This record gives sequence, structure tokens and C-alpha cells, in this order.
Amino acid sequence: GFGGGFDDLGDIFESMFGGGFGGFSGGGRRNPNGPARGNDLKQSITITFEEAAFGVTKEIKVNREEECTKCGGSGARSKDDVETCTRCSGSGRVVEVQNTILGRVQTQTVCPECSGKGKRIKHKCDSCNGRGAVNKAKTIEVKVPAGIDDGQQIRLSGQGEAGRNGGPSGDLYVAFRVKSHDFFVRDGFDLRCEVPITYSQAVLGAEIEVPTLTGKVVLKVPEGTQPGTEFRVRDKGIKYINRDLNGDLYVKVKLIVPKKVSSKQRELLSEFDALEDKTGSIWDKVKKAFK
Ligand SMILES: [Zn+2]
Ligand SMILES: [Zn+2]
Repeated sequence: GFGGGFDDLGDIFESMFGGGFGGFSGGGRRNPNGPARGNDLKQSITITFEEAAFGVTKEIKVNREEECTKCGGSGARSKDDVETCTRCSGSGRVVEVQNTILGRVQTQTVCPECSGKGKRIKHKCDSCNGRGAVNKAKTIEVKVPAGIDDGQQIRLSGQGEAGRNGGPSGDLYVAFRVKSHDFFVRDGFDLRCEVPITYSQAVLGAEIEVPTLTGKVVLKVPEGTQPGTEFRVRDKGIKYINRDLNGDLYVKVKLIVPKKVSSKQRELLSEFDALEDKTGSIWDKVKKAFK
């Protein structure tokens, strides 16, 4: 269609001129000798459930580019080893004239001789082999804040790769994998767990001990507690990051029915069964279904 024709024309122009048409592409004009920010780095570490809950200090090893201390980032053995590029006279760019179907077109491109730096190095620095930067393994201390969760990351400002020509360093992003816990399941800043109760405890009520991340608490299960009931224990969850506030612990009671009973238990339960009240809405519903 009509619009399609214009798109096609656009494609042709793009493929003809690419990024070489200096006046149009802003990115290509950046001074290669100017300050440039270092690259960001990303590293992930695995921590335990408790370390995530309470915070921890960890050491991580990163390999990062740092400015070569021997040449100060110039890449040259000495100051005298830096000379102006003869091909581009130090501008870093060369102008080429091309004959195209549209006539003669001047194209400005990055100088192939000096890769746009405008300089050439006669003798390269021994330490960095002319790169101006060296790869170093560095141990960094990471303060993991209490409350961090699986999949979250923190940014360590300026701990990434060194900037070039006096530019700032990049940042280091540390992503966390948090191991699961055998007993607690994390739900945001709340914790969930399941504790067993017997039929007698559910019927009569009981005080049961429940573990938390900071020691045990006594949970009062009231008389007539139904299976699967969830109780909230305030402030026994995970600490909110950078806040003086804790999530809660939700304790679900799981009714355990014994698969075996002793003869004494059998005797008592049979006696109990004879006294059990089997009336009520659910019993009635079943009775009606038999009709
Ligand atoms: Zn060097
Ligand atoms: Zn050049």
C-alpha cells in the first residue's frame, strides 16, 4: 500500500547510508577521547534463608577492568610514545567521497587507522599492552540488608568497571538467590509454616510450641479448632528492608490422624465414638442424599 512504499524507501536509504552519514547519527560523533563511564557488572550470589532474613556481610570476587596504574590509562609506555594520527590529523574521523545514484556523497567515518582516537601509540605500555586498562580479580565486601528476597538485587555504586579518560566507574549489581527453608515458607515479609495437632488437641484446645526464626513461641490453640486453621503470630516474620518493622508468622494447624492406635486407645476411642454427636448440617445433608 501507500504507507508500505514509504517504509521500503526508508529501508533503502538506511541500507545505503548506514551509520556512516556523520551528520545524521548523533551516537557516532561522540569523542572517543572524552570521558566515558565504565561498564556495569552483574554478579549473583546464593545466601541462606536466615542470611536473607537477618542480613549478612559477604565477600564476592569480581573480575573487572581497572585503569592501568602504570600508564594512567593512556596505553603508552611514556608520554613521548603518544603521537597524533597522520591519517586523520588527530580528528579521529576521515571524509570519504562516494559516487552514488544520488550523485557525489561525502561520508564521514571513524578513522580506520586510529579507531577514532586521533592518536597513535608508538610503544605500548608493557602492563596493559596498550589497552589502558587491566583485568583484575577483586574481592568486594557486600553488606546484604536484612529482608532481601530471592531474585532481588542491590546496586553497589562505582564498583563496576573503571571509566575511561577520567569518566566515572560503572556500578556493580549483586543479585541474590535465597535458599529455601526446611520449615518456613516466605511470603513477602510474612512467613508461613505448618504444625501438627492431634484430634484431642483440636477438640480440647492446647498450647503448642512453634519454632520461629528467633526462638520458640507458645501458640494457644482454642477448643474446637478446625483442621487447616491459620493462626497469626505477630512480628515473627521477616524484617522489612531498611525499616523497623517485621512481617508476621502464619501458623497453619494440620490435623494428624494416627494410622495405628494401641488397644487402650482403641478402647477409649470406641467408647468415645458411641457418645459422639452425629447430627448437624453436614450429617443431615448426607442423610438426605440417601433418599
Ligand atoms: Zn598501561
Ligand atoms: Zn586517525
